[in-house]
Amino acid sequence: MDLSYCSYTLEFFLIFVAKNLFNFSIDLLPTKNDEENTMQFLMEVVEIILNYIRKTFDRTSKVLDFHYPHQLLEGLDGFNLKVSDHPEPLEQLLVDCRDTLKYGVKTGHPRFFNQLSTGLDIIGLAGEWLTAAANTNMFTYEIAPVFIIMEDILLKKMFEMIGWSQAEADGVFSPGGTISNLYSQLVARYKRFPEVKTQGAANLPRLVLFTSELSHYSIKKAAAVLGIGTDNVILVKCDERGKLIPAELEAKICAGFVPFYVNATAGTTVYGAFDPLSEIADLCEKYSLWMHVDAAWGGGLLMSRKHCYKMKGIERANSVTWNPHKIMGIPLQCSAILIQEKGLLQGCNKMSAEYLFQTDKQYNMSYDTGDKTIQCGRHVDVFKFWLMWKAKPLCLGSLEFFQSAFTLLFSPFLQNLFTFQHSETLHPREGRFINTSYFCGYCLVNTLNFYFLSALRDGTCYLTKVLHDINPTRKVLYKFTSLSL
Ligand SMILES: *Cc1c(COP(=O)(O)O)cnc(C)c1O
Repeated sequence: MDLSYCSYTLEFFLIFVAKNLFNFSIDLLPTKNDEENTMQFLMEVVEIILNYIRKTFDRTSKVLDFHYPHQLLEGLDGFNLKVSDHPEPLEQLLVDCRDTLKYGVKTGHPRFFNQLSTGLDIIGLAGEWLTAAANTNMFTYEIAPVFIIMEDILLKKMFEMIGWSQAEADGVFSPGGTISNLYSQLVARYKRFPEVKTQGAANLPRLVLFTSELSHYSIKKAAAVLGIGTDNVILVKCDERGKLIPAELEAKICAGFVPFYVNATAGTTVYGAFDPLSEIADLCEKYSLWMHVDAAWGGGLLMSRKHCYKMKGIERANSVTWNPHKIMGIPLQCSAILIQEKGLLQGCNKMSAEYLFQTDKQYNMSYDTGDKTIQCGRHVDVFKFWLMWKAKPLCLGSLEFFQSAFTLLFSPFLQNLFTFQHSETLHPREGRFINTSYFCGYCLVNTLNFYFLSALRDGTCYLTKVLHDINPTRKVLYKFTSLSL
């Protein structure tokens, strides 16, 4: 007897029985007459999310109910992460949705801090929901007309803030600062050696590029990916405040091989230092080098009339990386690569696939952004940013948006600072991950995760002691607010 057939029939029978008790995903739209099931299911998902948001903003709730990987793999309390071979009822999916949030990190929690992104902006969240419902692709105007125009408008705003001509500059949203930095090297090399696109790197001389010893590791990674090689990424020394030393840069530029690119960081990832952009621009001009500014983290300062002086000289850059998903609190992901000269992105990446980028379209085909990118399909990252820009007065020089972003991102930290200082012992079992950034003296310090965690491990450490260890002067300028601890 064929047992496999038997078990198959049994399974089929069980599904048949279950189907008469529960609703399944096949009972949702676009199946005919299933609008009611669909609406009910979605309303319940929304309810789960709203409960989660309520909890997220409740400072007495846990940031994370931590479990080890083996616990998640084994399954917890009816939450089974394995996927089965038979369909499960919608009821089960709702439980799974709830549990997914339950065992995750509440990144919008007042006690969650992270050096890269933190907070949950409600307008941004609404933007993500809408984006998911629209479920479209940024490669051509015809498939994403509204989003393409939004991206164009916001890129132009960003050019204007940098101080570039809106008509001459070009850019595209990318899947993160690492990819934006990759674009900068790709375009810089193409500008100098356009034949690299067709002939590859074999015919090129040995290229070298420069970046500070405290710059983000994605600069090296890009060099590895592009076949430049990490040995050809020359690290330049920084001063005691973490800024690249221009004289050191000049000495290294003159040391040999073929220099083509300098990365200056506006807001280094760990120390928050701003490299001297104008002096670096002078050197780039003198030696005809491409100047990139990695402002993934610090780009948001361009929104501040008071603090944008740190970015002076950025207008002389050939390219800029700017992550609105960092300081500006836009939900992940949102990053842009901005290039001062129009046409380079297209020249470098264009493959003219005919099934997508037909040349006889009835509109201006510069709106087909797909051939400017190294991707084919591209996620819509612009809508949440556009919606937040609309919701908060984000006009050039206005501090209001900035302040609201900072309130969102950092004021909980201030509150916690006082709470911890006066009464609370940090203990790892409480699952409070402290992982944040603040100004130390006059230098912005992004505190290293490991520093806090190792301090937490001994279970007795007060945050003030941690701060004291890092900054014995006990003067902490935290995100534009002076504190004396
Ligand atoms: C975070 C960061 C990056 C990388 O950005 P991702 O979006 O995480 O890829 C690059 N440069 C700097 C200075 C950063 O702080």
